Amino acid sequence: METYDLAVIGVGGMGSAIVAHAAARKLRVLGLEQFSIPNIRGSSHGATRILRLGLHEGPTYVPLVLRAVELWKQLGEKTGTRIFHNCGGLDVAMPDSRIFKGSKAACEKFGVAREILDAAETHRRFPAIKPATDMLAVYQPGSGFVLPELAITAHVNLALENGAEIHGHERVLGWKSNGDKYLIRTDRSAYEAKQIIFSAGAWIGKLLAEQKIPVVPERTVLGWFSPKCNLANFKPDRLPIWIVDVPEIGHFYGFPIFGIPGFKLGRLREIPSPAIDPDLPRQEPDLADEADLRSFVENVFPDANGPVLSMETCFFENSPDRAPIIDRLPGEQGAWIVGGFSGHGFKYCSAVGELMTDLVMNGSQRFDLSPFQLSRFGTTV
Ligand SMILES: Cc1cc2nc3c(=O)[nH]c(=O)nc-3n(C[C@H](O)[C@H](O)[C@H](O)COP(=O)(O)OP(=O)(O)OC[C@H]3O[C@@H](n4cnc5c(N)ncnc54)[C@H](O)[C@@H]3O)c2cc1C
Repeated sequence: METYDLAVIGVGGMGSAIVAHAAARKLRVLGLEQFSIPNIRGSSHGATRILRLGLHEGPTYVPLVLRAVELWKQLGEKTGTRIFHNCGGLDVAMPDSRIFKGSKAACEKFGVAREILDAAETHRRFPAIKPATDMLAVYQPGSGFVLPELAITAHVNLALENGAEIHGHERVLGWKSNGDKYLIRTDRSAYEAKQIIFSAGAWIGKLLAEQKIPVVPERTVLGWFSPKCNLANFKPDRLPIWIVDVPEIGHFYGFPIFGIPGFKLGRLREIPSPAIDPDLPRQEPDLADEADLRSFVENVFPDANGPVLSMETCFFENSPDRAPIIDRLPGEQGAWIVGGFSGHGFKYCSAVGELMTDLVMNGSQRFDLSPFQLSRFGTTV
């Protein structure tokens, strides 16, 4: 049996970036994906993903996203496909909220270009959005969106060009360590690798049940609405990406029109919906999902309140504190977990691909990943 340097389990957003970086640095890489590449069954579909620079989630994320932007641009140049679209970004919330204060502080700490706009100025500059009069916005001209399916395609094509072996429609069923190697069993065959990275998204908790990895899938729904008037105000030159947190209504996020017809938005629930089994048949989007999104549209983007055009379900891959897990598996020298990005991970994929390759090759990398360690949950196996 051939021994690979690295096996990557799950070739979605994270896994595709890892196989690309590892193969570019001459590792003998095997990528295993249970569905097609890319697919619409995990967490990385729907044409666009927000990339914010002033991350209210915490200072650890900003260096990571700044490196990710450089790498997304390089990926676009290498493959002739633009992956990062720099249309700017708005973080809109009450002045005393975690989002407004966190985003402003992150911009200040890292010198990210920003302007603070009141509600009237936000609407004057970007007429599609009508925040409540007492809300403020942190406008960041350097933010924008990335294209998940094209990013996965570009990363996987690069990996293949650099000699990686990648299999779609092959599900990993089990694994065990065998001295200084790992044995991997799939529904088609068996493989041996010196190191192994689990980047299985919404399935990672199930796949690593024995290790008690606390990541659970949450069903979430994206909607695309047909603006009933002023369509031009929803195009990328007139509308940045945005997150808006309205007390009493909730935290929503969205995009200018791009890739799929209509004005796209989704909701991030303060208290996640109950965890589900990712292998059960998906509950398709329904009228209740549409009504939930529309309750926000009619308040904050009233011109967008026309017919719904598309809806799509997707999995958030939630950890208990909604921060990622990037770490060695307890008790394993060469087995790693990359997961639990909890609905905000795509923007980082390119940087995670690079840093995981550093970890696999050198045992060290350049970012502060201490907030992402498994030990914060008291997980000991
Ligand atoms: C609706 C929605 C909106 C989002 N919006 C944003 C956003 O605006 N900005 C942002 O940065 N992030 C956003 N996110 C989050 C981001 O998309 C995810 O954090 C990211 O895509 C996760 O990547 P991943 O590689 O972990 O998972 P995935 O891309 O789902 O990849 C995991 C892969 O592993 C495969 N797999 C699982 N088990 C096995 C197995 N046993 N054998 C083989 N293969 C297996 C799966 O089939 C899957 O393809 C959003 C997520 C959703 C659902």
